[in-house]
Amino acid sequence: MARKVKFVEPAKLYLMIREELDNAYFEVMSKGELIDRGQLRAFEENLAAFVGTKYAVGLNSGYDALHMSLRAAGIGKGDEVIVPAHTFVATASAVVNVGAKPVLVDVGKDFNIDCYKIEEAITSRTKAIIPVHLSGYMADMVRVMEIADKYRLVVIEDACQSLGTSMESDEATGNRQKATDIKQQAPNTKNTRRMAGSWGFTGCWSFYPFKILGGYGDGGAITTNDPDVALFATRMRYNGEDRHSGEYHGHGFTCLLDNMQAAFLDVKLRYLPQWIERRKAIATKYRAALSDLPDLLLPHYDDPRRDHVYQNYTVRSKQGNDFSEFMKANGVEVLTQFRKPYYRHEALKLEDRSFPETEVLSREVCSLPMNVEIDDRDIDYVIEVVRSFYSEREK
Ligand SMILES: *Cc1c(COP(=O)(O)O)cnc(C)c1O
Repeated sequence: MARKVKFVEPAKLYLMIREELDNAYFEVMSKGELIDRGQLRAFEENLAAFVGTKYAVGLNSGYDALHMSLRAAGIGKGDEVIVPAHTFVATASAVVNVGAKPVLVDVGKDFNIDCYKIEEAITSRTKAIIPVHLSGYMADMVRVMEIADKYRLVVIEDACQSLGTSMESDEATGNRQKATDIKQQAPNTKNTRRMAGSWGFTGCWSFYPFKILGGYGDGGAITTNDPDVALFATRMRYNGEDRHSGEYHGHGFTCLLDNMQAAFLDVKLRYLPQWIERRKAIATKYRAALSDLPDLLLPHYDDPRRDHVYQNYTVRSKQGNDFSEFMKANGVEVLTQFRKPYYRHEALKLEDRSFPETEVLSREVCSLPMNVEIDDRDIDYVIEVVRSFYSEREK
């Protein structure tokens, strides 16, 4: 044995597409195009086309995308917003930072919000739901949209981990047309399969370096079909200013996606479809080699309506830390997000409404190396280490 497998290798990925990235860099640098230039607009257009929405607005980060969406929806003091108990903390922080209260809901076996537990968390103050599409797999958006329509709630998709995934929609029910006074996105295409980030009021994206589409620093975006929301975000990301007229349309923020990052992201976006195929192939390899281990739960779900793009390949080991420590001790870098649920961090002052599934899975989660730059030999080694952990236990 004795091999080292990194969780991600950004420098290796750079070498794979070096010429195009270097050209993008040269283009931006030699022309001095730094803020709000053609590269940003080109990336926004290509991102919107990829997701299947009319607009994409580039922002500083996924957090900013969530924050901007909540602002655009007018959510603030006295309002409650439903968020999953198992997610990255930024989902809830954005809610707190607009003055509203996050109300946490437990997740299901697929790590996404448990739709059967949403309604019991709804009160007269509930204004929105933020379903998170964790690890590359969508929350059940058909069900989320049904609930949102029934209670007239805004839906903001935290799609930060799921660029490129999709779900078969149920347009036949006509649910989406009923709540016309709530500005959810109307379907932009006749296609019944819809991408993550094209269902709700907005889709929120992060281009943090290790996301499925990662930049070389922070970055984010919202996607939307609503021209007013796109315009709001376009002004507010730049201190509320209309850059043509110079008029301020409100007290805004500074959270514009850098032109340089947009240029890099536009290069990488072209590779995304083939990179997603590579991720799926790695997942298939893991599945074929590990699915017989009874104490290990793999992230494969049978819902033919939903697709998985494997931002993360998160397994659940009944042996929790023993398993993840063994992986690390044998040279395999793994991620254990999130061992300590965010609502258990005192300083965040969040209400623990009791989330049994989140409690159990947070002790068991372990993400195995999953990226496009990894060699097959490294995958084989990861598999070998996982199997040796379980065979040593049997002895
Ligand atoms: C990464 C992430 C965010 C925040 O994105 P940043 O760009 O780091 O601000 C929000 N939600 C989820 C689920 C994420 O994975």
